[in-house]
Amino acid sequence: MKAAVVREPKAPAVLEDRPVPEPKSGEVLIRVHACGVCHSDLMVQQGLFPFAKYPRVPGHEVAGVVEKVGPGVTWPQVGDRAGMPWLFSSCGHCKLCVQGDEVMCPFAEVTGVTKDGGYQEYMIAPAAYVAPIPDALDFAEAAPLMCAGLTVFNGLRNARFQPGQKVAIIGLGGLGHLGVLYAKAMGGRVAVISSSPDKEAEARGLGAEHFINTKAKKAADALKEWDGGADIILATAPSSEAATDAFPGLAPDGTLVVLGVGPGNITVSPMDLLGGRRHLMGSPSGSRKDIRATLDFSAHHRVLPHITKFSLEEAGKALELMHAGKLSGRAVLMLR
Ligand SMILES: [Zn+2]
Ligand SMILES: [Zn+2]
Repeated sequence: MKAAVVREPKAPAVLEDRPVPEPKSGEVLIRVHACGVCHSDLMVQQGLFPFAKYPRVPGHEVAGVVEKVGPGVTWPQVGDRAGMPWLFSSCGHCKLCVQGDEVMCPFAEVTGVTKDGGYQEYMIAPAAYVAPIPDALDFAEAAPLMCAGLTVFNGLRNARFQPGQKVAIIGLGGLGHLGVLYAKAMGGRVAVISSSPDKEAEARGLGAEHFINTKAKKAADALKEWDGGADIILATAPSSEAATDAFPGLAPDGTLVVLGVGPGNITVSPMDLLGGRRHLMGSPSGSRKDIRATLDFSAHHRVLPHITKFSLEEAGKALELMHAGKLSGRAVLMLR
């Protein structure tokens, strides 16, 4: 089978011919139909995750079908539609796992980072961590929901979003465009903050009522003029500077949620925090309960990613385009 492999940090993703792996006890073999290309894959390729292991097959937005099950596996079954998100597995018995927050398990394995992911025709997954894909979603649509969709949907929930609130979204990439769609579908009002003025038409097309071009105006000033500020800011772009600049534009009791990791630090003034009783928080991907909720919500409300399809052979090219900021929506590798 074909697999796109990053052999060591900073090496390009190259195609290798590998034997189809055999599922062991408790594992399943997934035939990958589609795999989204996430900014984290670029970080694996660039060697920016200290916990990543190499050589590595990236990809944690996997959508496919169970091809084979290992000994003792009763669920899922051969032929079931199955996805794999960021969380590959967790210990199952620490405090965080037991309370349903397994994504923060200190012993978690990560798909495409510490275990081989979906940039290959077949991948091994622990049966218990597979996400069932609703019939209403096709594979190419479902793949980006495994990370980009889960991250923004769960970020809104973790920030205690309420219908009617104003949500500002920094960046209109793979996460950001889904952020607009989720916030709208959940009953929010949406603004997009971007340093690319040419993104305005796309933002408005997705349903944003307000577009803030940070080249023309400071994000915080523009947000304060939006009926007193944003209730939630989703920082999806990997830019600490953009999050720092937007933070003072939160309404009182507002929350900025960090969803993308950029270099440097986000800084906030104690006065901005205290005076407006504001919050700064992060939200990592999600646990098994969260990916199921994301997929169900997306299927019922037709929240679907805007995608550009690539072949597995083009994995390296897709990562380069992402690095150059030249992708719109989500890139998806199609393997079938
Ligand atoms: Zn991701
Ligand atoms: Zn655990």
